[in-house]
Amino acid sequence: MNITIVGGGLAGCECAWRLAGMGLDVLLLEMRPETPTPAHVGGGLAELVCSNSLRSAERTKAVGVLKDEMESLDSLVMEAARATRLPAGKAFAVDRDKFSSYITGKIEAHPRIRLERREVSSLDDPALASAWRTVLAAGPLASDALARDLRRVVGEDHLSFYDAIAPIVDADSVDMDHAFYGSRYRPEDSDYLNCPLSKEEYFALVRELVAGEKVPPREFEKEVHFEGCLPVEEMARRGEMTLAFGPLKPVGLEDPRTGERPFAVVQLRTENEGKTAFNMVGFQTKLTWPEQQRVFRMIPALARVEFLRLGSIHRNTYVNAPRVLGDRLELRAASNMHLAGQITGVEGYVESAACGLWVGLLLGMEARGRTVANPPETTALGALLGHLRREEKNFQPSNAHFGLTPALDRKAPKRKRKELYGLRAQEHWRAWLEAFDPADLALDSPGEA
Ligand SMILES: Cc1cc2nc3c(=O)[nH]c(=O)nc-3n(C[C@H](O)[C@H](O)[C@H](O)COP(=O)(O)OP(=O)(O)OC[C@H]3O[C@@H](n4cnc5c(N)ncnc54)[C@H](O)[C@@H]3O)c2cc1C
Repeated sequence: MNITIVGGGLAGCECAWRLAGMGLDVLLLEMRPETPTPAHVGGGLAELVCSNSLRSAERTKAVGVLKDEMESLDSLVMEAARATRLPAGKAFAVDRDKFSSYITGKIEAHPRIRLERREVSSLDDPALASAWRTVLAAGPLASDALARDLRRVVGEDHLSFYDAIAPIVDADSVDMDHAFYGSRYRPEDSDYLNCPLSKEEYFALVRELVAGEKVPPREFEKEVHFEGCLPVEEMARRGEMTLAFGPLKPVGLEDPRTGERPFAVVQLRTENEGKTAFNMVGFQTKLTWPEQQRVFRMIPALARVEFLRLGSIHRNTYVNAPRVLGDRLELRAASNMHLAGQITGVEGYVESAACGLWVGLLLGMEARGRTVANPPETTALGALLGHLRREEKNFQPSNAHFGLTPALDRKAPKRKRKELYGLRAQEHWRAWLEAFDPADLALDSPGEA
C-alpha cells in the first residue's frame, strides 16, 4: 500500500518514518528549496523555524510527558533530538542544523521512502489521487496555492491564516484573595474568574502594556489586519481608557469583598470542565514571553500565576479541526485525506511531530486491518487529540498542557498536582500501549525493508 505525504517538516517526517517502518511505501513531497516559505531558510527536512528549544523535558509538564510518549513509539524526531541535544538547563535544546541533517539523512536513506522536491498546489494532484491514503502535513506556512485549495474543500470559514492567542493560566495559581467568581450580572456563575484592578493598578498596567517589549512582526506578517482581534497592547496604546471601556470593563461585576464595582476587571474564562485552567479574556498579544510574564503578573490576582500557555499572534494556517476533521484526523469532505501537524490546530514543534507520529501509527495499523483506540485524554497525546475534537466558538491552536486533561479525581495539595498529572499520564499511557501486539509497534529497521 502506498501513501503520499505533503510536507517534509516535523509532522511529515515523523509520519513517513513510522509508516515506512510498518512496511508501507511512502512518497514524501517537499517543496523546499525550490519553493521557499517565508520562515524556513534552507532545504533540509524538519527545519526548526524559530527557537532551537523543544521546551521542557520534565514530567511535571505535559510537553515533557509527550516526549516520553513519542519515544515509546520510536519517534524519529526524539531520536534526532537526543543525538543533537545541547546543554540548556531544564529546556531541551538542540543544534538546529545537526537536527535537520540527522532527520534528512534518515529519511533519504530509507528504502521505502521516496523524497520528491516539488510544490503540491492542488489536492487533485495525481500523486495524491493515486495513493491509498494521503497526509497533508504542510504546516503553518503551507504554500498559498495549497492553502487556497484546502480552503475550497473545507469551506471558507474553516481555514484560518493567522492565530491570535491569549494566555492560559493554571487555576490553582490564581490568588483567590484578589479574585472572585461571577459573570456580568450573574455573581452565581463560576465560568468566569474576575481579577479586579484599582485605578492606580489599571493605569500602571496600561503603561507597561504600551512600554513592554513586543515581538517584531516578520515581513510576511505585516499585512495582518488585527481589527477583529486587536492585541491588548494595541488597545492600550490607542487610549488610556480604551481597555476600561473594552475587555476590562467592570460593568455588571461587583467585588464581594468591598460590595463595589471595581475600576477595571480582567476576566478569566474557564478553559475546561474541571475548571483547572483559565483563559485571559481579550489578552491576545505580541508582547515577548518574558514581558507577558512580567506585565501580566502586575494584576494582583495573577502576581504568582503559572502560565500554561503564553499569548501570541502570528501567521498560522490551520483548520477548524472539530468541524472539519473526523476521529482519525481525516477530512470529513475527503475521507482518504488526513491532516497532520500544526495545520490540524496543534501548536509547537513537539506537538506537531507527535501528531504526525499518531497519524502514521493510525494508518499503519489500518493497513494491517486493525483499528486503534485514541489514547485516553489523561495522557499528553490523548489530551492534544481531545483538543482537536472539542467544538469551540473560536477554535484556536493549542500546545500540550495539563489544562487539556480531565481534572484529578482526588484532592491533592496544589504543589503536588503537576507531578500527579504527570504520573497519571504515564500510567494511563503504559496501559494503553499494553493493548497493542508488540509486533505492531515495532519498526522494521531500514535494512530489512
Ligand atoms: C514563524 C513561526 C515560528 C515558530 N516558532 C516556533 C517555536 O519557536 N517553537 C515551537 O515549538 N513552535 C514554533 N512554531 C510553530 C510550529 O511548531 C512549527 O511551525 C512546526 O515546524 C510545525 O510543524 P509541521 O510539521 O506542522 O510544519 P513544518 O515543520 O512547517 O513543515 C511543513 C513542510 O511542508 C512544506 N510545504 C508547505 N507547503 C507545501 C506544498 N504545497 N507542497 C510541498 N511542501 C509544502 C514546507 O516547506 C515545510 O517543510 C512556529 C511557527 C511559525 C510559523
